[in-house]
Amino acid sequence: MSQKSKKSAAGVATPAKQRHYEVIVIGAGVAGIYQIKLLKDLKINATVLDAASDLGWTWYNNRYPGARFDSESYTYGYSFSKELLNEWHWKEKFSGQPENLRYLNYVVDKFKLRKFMQFNCQVEAAHFDENDNLWRLRIGDGRQLTCRFIVLALGLLSTPTLPRYEGMNKFRGRSFHTFHWPHEKLDLAGKKVAVIGTGATGIQLIAEIPDKVGELTVFQRRPNWSAPLNNRPISVEEMADIRSRYDEIFATCARTPGGFEHEPDRRGFYEVSREQRVELWDRLYDGPGFGIWLRNFREIFTDEEPNAELSEYIAERIRQRVNDPETAEKLIPQDHGFGVQRVPLETHYYEAYNRDNVHLVDISETPIKQITEFGIRTSECDYDFDIIVYATGFDAVTGAFDGIDIRGIGGEKLREKWKHGPSTFLGMFVHGFPNLLMPAGPQSGSASTNYPRGIEIGVNWCTGLLKHMSERGYVRADTTPQAEERWTSHVTKMYSKMLMRKAKGWFTGYNSNVEGHEHGKTRYFVYNGGTPKYVATINEVAANGYEGIILQSNSSITSEEVAMTSGGRRSES
Ligand code: NAP
Repeated sequence: MSQKSKKSAAGVATPAKQRHYEVIVIGAGVAGIYQIKLLKDLKINATVLDAASDLGWTWYNNRYPGARFDSESYTYGYSFSKELLNEWHWKEKFSGQPENLRYLNYVVDKFKLRKFMQFNCQVEAAHFDENDNLWRLRIGDGRQLTCRFIVLALGLLSTPTLPRYEGMNKFRGRSFHTFHWPHEKLDLAGKKVAVIGTGATGIQLIAEIPDKVGELTVFQRRPNWSAPLNNRPISVEEMADIRSRYDEIFATCARTPGGFEHEPDRRGFYEVSREQRVELWDRLYDGPGFGIWLRNFREIFTDEEPNAELSEYIAERIRQRVNDPETAEKLIPQDHGFGVQRVPLETHYYEAYNRDNVHLVDISETPIKQITEFGIRTSECDYDFDIIVYATGFDAVTGAFDGIDIRGIGGEKLREKWKHGPSTFLGMFVHGFPNLLMPAGPQSGSASTNYPRGIEIGVNWCTGLLKHMSERGYVRADTTPQAEERWTSHVTKMYSKMLMRKAKGWFTGYNSNVEGHEHGKTRYFVYNGGTPKYVATINEVAANGYEGIILQSNSSITSEEVAMTSGGRRSES
């Protein structure tokens, strides 16, 4: 098809006229970039659509000061190209947002992927057309596109959510969600700044800005357990060493439950003495990254007693770092144990509260009543601000899916089907939504792991399926209700073993700002079996001819009978 190009806001040529693709990938973040690379290699007619004006989504949008990896940088990068691994120098053990965005741009340019991407393309609707066996998409710019397959590379934490305080639109200063931190330089000098929210984002931001603002006031509803990131630069020599060990590093990631370098301590918690436990914890607390969470005893995730002992240890470390004992106690969570929610990692977060210009307001005691023209009114008093930052989190995992009007067979709405929580097969398929692939969907292996390691697994698997189908003349893939039911109940059952099941965090679908997502209405988002088990399962499914997925050719689609009797196996044409 001949294409005329026009310029997007990012100055990149986009195909303006093309209306049909074999594959449309939605999302030009970490997953979408890798997906289009593989589709390009297979010479499949594909494009990526992204609502933003350039690539990178999470790393494009989250520009708040302090935004950085808490995965070791060299375990976060793509592993698919030796050349890329040899070229890129990660400058820090835990790299910051500007560098991360530069990296993604470097990858896209190196592999010449930009021409397959279209920006400022908000996908409003995707409806499956049963007669033509196509997905029909409506884009915000008015275009209608069709494709055989949709790959939803939407990310897990891509839809920010704001509180519902009265008066938010009346505030005369600047206010925004951390996800929408201004792209232009924001002058903080001398400003009175409020931050609402103390999750991973709030903790990074609060630690980073005290020396850049006039006054910083933190509004905390519930504290989170947090531990030091222990970041440091990576020298040229160290990077050379990392490059020589990449195979080993990725092999370690592949065998650990979380897809990180951190392997759990194989000793039983009860088999070692208190002194040995403390010796391990001292080492891990002062070591890098998620070690304190993921190199720990396995019982901390499942058994109240070990978890309580570890939590008390961490509480003591917090007390040692915060000068004012009353403030220290406010920063120590009382309603959940360490590691039960996703652990934010910090750099001098607790020390920030030792500064005269940083104030903590406990809004569990003095709730926010409203946002005023000049600031924030709590039950106790009014505070004046120049800037209010909402670090209030995301409509996690399913939020981005809910944001698109996705309809499958018989016009069934995905949003309705998932109203009380997602149901999937392997986190990659949804029954009744043929040819809709989610390489990193809810209940997939990526949700609870080092994200890029998980997405490479999911994207490789989905691409393998597309290749398998194309080689055999299949044009339609849908999972069976039985396979979906089996997987969803497997994912659900695994929660019952984890202390995490009680947590008020995104792993259980909690978000106080989204109706129906309040605490107590658990949504089973995360596969808790770990990377090796997940990989073994999806590989077995593929080896068994994609058991649990009905694959159909054009001729078998017309035969209702074949589809009805295939009973969870593929139907041959
Ligand atoms: P979050 O963990 O959901 O935290 C949101 C915070 O805002 C919580 O403290 C919450 O308090 C508070 N909040 C929400 N609504 C509120 C309201 N109406 N009034 C007062 N407080 C309110 O969100 P996040 O910090 O953005 O982190 C989300 C996830 O993103 C993380 O768990 C992590 O997976 C990822 N992340 C990763 C990185 C990284 O890789 N380095 C960095 C940042 C984020 P309650 O707890 O009381 O609801």
